[in-house]
Amino acid sequence: MQVLKFGGTSVGKPDRLIKVADLVIGAAGKKIVVLSALSGTTNMLVRIGEFLLTGKKKEADDEIGLLEKHYQQYAGVLFTSSEYLAIGQDIVSRYFSLIRLLAAGAFDDRSYRELLAQGELASTEFFYYHLRERKVESRLLPALHFMSIDENQEPELEKISERLKALLPSMSQVDILVTQGYICRNHHNEIDNLKRGGSDYTASLIGAAIRAEEIQIWTDIDGMHNNDPRVVKKTQPIAELTFDEASELAYFGAKILHPSTIVPAQKYGVPVRLKNTMDEKAPGTLISDKGTRGEFKAIAAKDNIIAINIKSSRMLLAFGFLRRVFEIFEKYKTPIDMISTSEVAVSVTVDDESHLDKIISELQHFGTIEVDKHQTIICIVGNKLAEKKRVLADVFQSLGDVPVRMVSYGGSHNNISILVETNQKEKSLRLLNQGLFNLGE
Ligand code: ADP
Ligand code: ASP
Ligand code: MG
Repeated sequence: MQVLKFGGTSVGKPDRLIKVADLVIGAAGKKIVVLSALSGTTNMLVRIGEFLLTGKKKEADDEIGLLEKHYQQYAGVLFTSSEYLAIGQDIVSRYFSLIRLLAAGAFDDRSYRELLAQGELASTEFFYYHLRERKVESRLLPALHFMSIDENQEPELEKISERLKALLPSMSQVDILVTQGYICRNHHNEIDNLKRGGSDYTASLIGAAIRAEEIQIWTDIDGMHNNDPRVVKKTQPIAELTFDEASELAYFGAKILHPSTIVPAQKYGVPVRLKNTMDEKAPGTLISDKGTRGEFKAIAAKDNIIAINIKSSRMLLAFGFLRRVFEIFEKYKTPIDMISTSEVAVSVTVDDESHLDKIISELQHFGTIEVDKHQTIICIVGNKLAEKKRVLADVFQSLGDVPVRMVSYGGSHNNISILVETNQKEKSLRLLNQGLFNLGE
């Protein structure tokens, strides 16, 4: 069995969804198809939800009206026979009645999460009925019946696997199962989600849960590129990456993959292939446990980083100091990305601001605290980088006069992370593109 995930742009227009259907029908063997919402939908639902949470009912209603029009037009083009045109319009009116019902009630965080789920629920229905109109057999496999997260928002892989084991045999007669990316149930059994871009994560969780042959992530670009194509002009696709390399790139900002996508696939050794819906013939990127060593592969950048510096004479020759510092971050469930230490100071970075004030006030017991916001981590990735000569020399020579706030190297064998001010990000990515890959700025 394979898992095939198609992102928002791959189903964003009716002709694209039809192309996805062609691709799915043409692919050999059994597959679980994971779909995102039509492109732009989740952004729009976020806006509607925020209006409703802040009492801006009229603005929310206007956006709902716009989105409904878009869906009516979409259904009007996707379906062709009068029978299925009626089904399409019925799908749209069902979803928008529900959205209006949610908007009319006492709108809280729970309603918000239910609202966000409507995008994937609608796109999968469109796809399923499109296949039916083409007389292709498939089944809807409702993600809300098997995908779940625990009280720490972590997916429950074992439970997901057990539920799928129980669900799949009843569908063994059909080759195409269609399910929703992104959405899940939380430990209160409420509708929740795997955070923005989470459909990639869904695909990987399913792939790991059923020990799939391969997880394919189909998007609008021909695989993982060596640098962020939204920032740097000339980037190139990478044919092969190891799980570790891809994991670092996803975590440190390569938007093509949700930050946690690689974790479940790597756990069970399921290869992940990145493919381009607009250019099926392009080789894409294969992510597996194989890969070349000792060369720079790619660069990614993660914004909204906060650097915290703790300066304390109590650190001098003391043991247990770092443990006490880290316990504070643990207490507030705030992960640390980078660390750098000296004899009397330690700097760490975090990307979650939610408990920053409390963390800082507890850290102040240790000494002087400095906080720098608007920082960016630039992560340079390659398998077994230490086997390469001049690793750090090449990085710093490429960066020229860019001021570097922190460096982390040696923690893993496949990454060098540097911290720069966010206003230096674009320049850094361009300089590294030229210096490390000779691809121009
Ligand atoms: P989907 O809707 O299919 O999930 P996304 O927009 O989430 O697609 O991800 C694909 C986009 O990721 C690409 O269009 C590209 O602009 C962006 N991207 C950022 N960094 C990279 C990278 N290193 N390689 C490829 N794409 C990247
Ligand atoms: N539709 C969701 C989002 O836009 C999930 C996804 O596309 O992966 O974030
Ligand atoms: Mg995405």
